[in-house]
Amino acid sequence: MSTFQAPKGTYDLTPPRSATFLAVREAIAAPLRDSGYGYIETPGFENVELFARGVGESTDIVTKEMYTLTTKGGDQLALRPEGTASVLRAALEANLHKAGNLPVKLWYSGSYYRYERPQAGRYRHFSQVGAEAIGTEDPVLDAELIILADQAYRSLGLRQFRILLNSLGDKECRPVYREALQTFLRDLDLDEETRRRIEINPLRVLDDKRADVQKQLTDAPKLRDYLCDACTAYHEEVRALLTAAGVAFEDDEKLVRGLDYYTRTTFEFVHDGLGSQSAVGGGGRYDGLSEMIGGPELPSVGWALGVDRTVLALEAEGIELDLPYTTSVYAVPLGEEARRVLFGVVTGLRRAGIAADFAFGGRGLKGAMKSANRSGARYTLVAGERDLAEGVVQLKDMESGEQNAVPLTEVAAELAKRLG
Ligand code: AMP
Repeated sequence: MSTFQAPKGTYDLTPPRSATFLAVREAIAAPLRDSGYGYIETPGFENVELFARGVGESTDIVTKEMYTLTTKGGDQLALRPEGTASVLRAALEANLHKAGNLPVKLWYSGSYYRYERPQAGRYRHFSQVGAEAIGTEDPVLDAELIILADQAYRSLGLRQFRILLNSLGDKECRPVYREALQTFLRDLDLDEETRRRIEINPLRVLDDKRADVQKQLTDAPKLRDYLCDACTAYHEEVRALLTAAGVAFEDDEKLVRGLDYYTRTTFEFVHDGLGSQSAVGGGGRYDGLSEMIGGPELPSVGWALGVDRTVLALEAEGIELDLPYTTSVYAVPLGEEARRVLFGVVTGLRRAGIAADFAFGGRGLKGAMKSANRSGARYTLVAGERDLAEGVVQLKDMESGEQNAVPLTEVAAELAKRLG
């Protein structure tokens, strides 16, 4: 193993590609901030119990994919595999739901960890931006979240994604369906592991990717036929609101998702340019989760969008984000005295809010101008002994190539004017 190698299933974000990740996070967060969602940050690890109870003992995430550890003090912790359980835990702990302002709308951005088999688009450490709206049962809220995710993807220029939508029913109708499905599944020709899954999480069997399994599922009972009137009406309302907003979706009754806590509305954003790991984001309503982790009844809805896969989706669509260069001005000193003076100018520019960088290390003019070019700066400031003696610096417009001497005392104002 080389010393300079990130652990299996992980990768580093380095410039310039890392700028795209920041821009993606920002693009997802912007519509949320504009819609009343407040920022929340929770620890990277939690007590194992939270995820076991919240995400579900029968899910792959909890049984196979969680990074767990025992601390020296004997605490059982897990690196967070997802955000919803933590955010709800934190909201309950801070009593946000008691402030008389429901729903509690929160957004977050962070790293998540799952011990999965690494492949393109599937990593052991990945990044999500998520949103949760806690404490209100209202189809408008479900629609709002789906619309905001759609808006985020569109603002990035993405077009080749689809929204899959389903309802998983509630605590009234889902158990009835679950039993009907189990009865059907028990008669099929399935391997041991899948048979076990029938008993603990039969809806997940519908999600099986194998063709021979899918073939046997053709006549499986459909959840849609078991939805109670309240769930049907709720779902119709969500669909109507999305349609009214001009957000296209596909009904997908096989969409069950890998987490146990979902009820009613569930959805996934899939991108057609990503191969097998096509889900770029997903979420849904989780009306029972608060009680599952020991809280009061708090019907809620949320989603998490994968930043890594969103970047892959941009690449698949050939979209290059229009990322402005970060440096506006690049200073090139020629000689010791010029270093001190120009560094003073750069410091002043930065304090005035103008992004400026400096040719460090006393390099020659040629090398320094190469760096200036690479920085993408619109202007360079060059000064040598003769300029200083005259009290000026040479200000060069890197686009037009035009250069003129500007008095040292006026350079900040001149740049501020030119950069608008
Ligand atoms: P989930 O919590 O499984 O619904 O995941 C929500 C989103 O997070 C997915 O749609 C992916 O974009 C992303 N995601 C989940 N697991 C991984 C992973 N192992 N590697 C990269 N992205 C992931």
